[in-house]
Amino acid sequence: MKAYQEMNRGELTAERAALQQEFDGYKAKGLKLNMARGKPGADQLALSMPMLDALNSGSDCKDEGIDCRNYGELTGIPSAKKLFGEVMGVSADEIIIGGSSSLTMMYDCMSRAMLKGVLGSEKPWGKYDKVKFLCPVPGYDRHFTICEFLGIEMINIPLTEWGPDMDLIEKLVADDETVKGMWCVPKYTNPLGGTYSDEAVRRIAALKPAAKDFRIFWDNAYAVHHVYKDTRLLNILDECKKAGNPNMVYMFGSTSKITFPGAGVGYMAMSKENVEFTAKQLNAQAISWDKLNMLRHVRYFKNADGLRAQMDKHAALLRPKFDAVLKALDSELAGRGAGRWVKPDGGYFVTYIAENGCAKRIVSLCKEAGVVMTNAGATHPYGKDPDDCYIRIAPSFPTPEELSLAMQIFCVSVRLATVEKLLG
Ligand code: PLP
Repeated sequence: MKAYQEMNRGELTAERAALQQEFDGYKAKGLKLNMARGKPGADQLALSMPMLDALNSGSDCKDEGIDCRNYGELTGIPSAKKLFGEVMGVSADEIIIGGSSSLTMMYDCMSRAMLKGVLGSEKPWGKYDKVKFLCPVPGYDRHFTICEFLGIEMINIPLTEWGPDMDLIEKLVADDETVKGMWCVPKYTNPLGGTYSDEAVRRIAALKPAAKDFRIFWDNAYAVHHVYKDTRLLNILDECKKAGNPNMVYMFGSTSKITFPGAGVGYMAMSKENVEFTAKQLNAQAISWDKLNMLRHVRYFKNADGLRAQMDKHAALLRPKFDAVLKALDSELAGRGAGRWVKPDGGYFVTYIAENGCAKRIVSLCKEAGVVMTNAGATHPYGKDPDDCYIRIAPSFPTPEELSLAMQIFCVSVRLATVEKLLG
């Protein structure tokens, strides 16, 4: 097969005409497909239905003597701290169990930092003329939305499958005390799907920021969400302690993609000192969270092994869907000089990296033919991908049959956009 870059103008023109015909054929079908939603499929949600029976009107609703039906225990019930502490690799006094969303906890942390500062702050972050955050890209759009909403300037940091550009990070944090933190999705990163290497984790933990109140927002949303390979991630809190930076990291996680998104349990793990400081701030915000939901989760899973067994079932349901996406990319695009893609180890996404300047056009062609993709640019702060090349494919929600069809349309759109770009 000849790569598009090796074709002459005549060959490219003929290829464009053939692709346009194929594309028009798909368009005429009036399909409605969606590969934008990073949410569990109905079969995955069904896995957790028995959890709804873990409590009923006859249940005692007590956790180590605490009545979960009543106010109290702002930082969560003991058994949930033990269970999710084990999942996050921290002790029960190094975790706060909150409401049903880790993203809300991240937003709250950031807004408290802006309004009041964090442990060790000389003044609230919001009192600086400018506050900056480092954002490994491609990354998770909602992290960027939080920063944009709160007026925090974002700096792009190139990310590979194995971690962010550490040389650049070390330089930026050392030079500027208004660089107050960075986002990380360290395992099965959204969207690349790789896991930070030991070296990346150690270098992050050993950072020497000019800002004494620098914070790493370690969003371990996919901590146990393997699809193909159960990778190992170093424990950032342990590494921060070893490097003399015990208070520099906030770790986040939730059961959104373990049980029910929006109705799971969110948590944040950090040093004991940070827990005590944060609990005092939280006291102005809440009396307690949904302890019955925490109890339901603990009674259903029993322990971390129970939770991991559930994740094996999720992986078995997700694998054929990821296979369908990767198979289409390999068979339709390999060798054509039409971008590249990353086979993830786990998480919820496959990243396709188009030839520069083609991503927006591909997404718009897909839309024309009835396939909704995540907006090109969503992987970057301010929605601006400078090379216009990243596209996030979310295979979890459609059926494998829908995915195969959607991927046919995606691949034709990729080829058409690539040829169009070369023809100018
Ligand atoms: N963090 C990352 C990296 C995500 O991809 C998602 C959801 O897609 C979330 C957080 C949302 O987490 P939660 O449902 O706990 O708010």
